[in-house]
Amino acid sequence: MTQCLFCRIVKKEIPGRIVYEDEAVVAFEDINPQAPVHILVVPRKHVDSLMNLTQGDKELMGSLFMVANELAKTHDLNPSGFRAVINTGPGGGQTVYHLHVHLMGGRQMTWPPG
Ligand code: 5GP
Ligand code: ZN
Repeated sequence: MTQCLFCRIVKKEIPGRIVYEDEAVVAFEDINPQAPVHILVVPRKHVDSLMNLTQGDKELMGSLFMVANELAKTHDLNPSGFRAVINTGPGGGQTVYHLHVHLMGGRQMTWPPG
């Protein structure tokens, strides 16, 4: 997906503040942070949204959340706590259609979210 914004960040065709990368997962700072720590954890492989996952993506999703787990430690979000969110579809507030986990913390999060 050459037109996809996050695919282009993953491929370093456009700049992103990458904080972690491995063979399957890339994490970078959100351009419009909603918390002192706001990192987007994305698969290198293009997947539109949570609803486009297939059985073959099980290991990939495990990797995505293990990276979130590691980043929560390295960014001092544990044990105070943080939020990990996957906005899905228009009603879920998704604006970029490349699956991503928002990892947000460093302030008290509130519930319900907007
Ligand atoms: P969504 O609304 O799809 O759940 O989240 C998309 C996120 O991508 C938003 O939080 C938005 O600030 C972020 N974003 C949009 N464009 C860019 C960009 O060019 N670079 C980075 N790093 N983040 C972006
Ligand atoms: Zn993409």
